Amino acid sequence: MSTLQKIRQRVIDRDYFLSSHAEEEMLDDDLDRNDVENAILKGRIEKQLTHDARGTRYRIKGPCLDGRIIHVICRFREDKYSGHYCVCATGAVMQCEFCGGETKKRNVKRQHWFQRQLYIVENVEAEVCAECGERYFHATTLDAVDALLLKKHAVKEKLCVEVVEFTKVAA
Ligand SMILES: [Zn+2]
Repeated sequence: MSTLQKIRQRVIDRDYFLSSHAEEEMLDDDLDRNDVENAILKGRIEKQLTHDARGTRYRIKGPCLDGRIIHVICRFREDKYSGHYCVCATGAVMQCEFCGGETKKRNVKRQHWFQRQLYIVENVEAEVCAECGERYFHATTLDAVDALLLKKHAVKEKLCVEVVEFTKVAA
């Protein structure tokens, strides 16, 4: 199996992590997980970026669902797979993609986009970097949050969120 096939298999098996940093970039570009996964499943490895003990980083170029071409950074090694769009690892201790710190399992409050709506979901399991605080969410956890939101669910509170374009206000 080629490396690309192995990375794709992790997506199919729902065995990867997505970093919160990646999610912010995805939000900037109006992308969701389906777009990133589509790019991995239909794209190709454009470049090998770095190779170190944490695994090799690859840049995958592929189409998102509306046909735009995007780049996805993945870190992959046989037992682990990570990156700044996608991070995947199995095993208890993960190393942070950004600072190399160890991550610890914690339940966090998460801003979760689903079907173009923003939810704040409490008590979501994440791997959190002890050094820099970067959060990594496993695909099965994110799938489970989606599934919960799709069903009839209890709502603790409703917030109204303004979307505003930032401009400097004259003094
Ligand atoms: Zn870190």
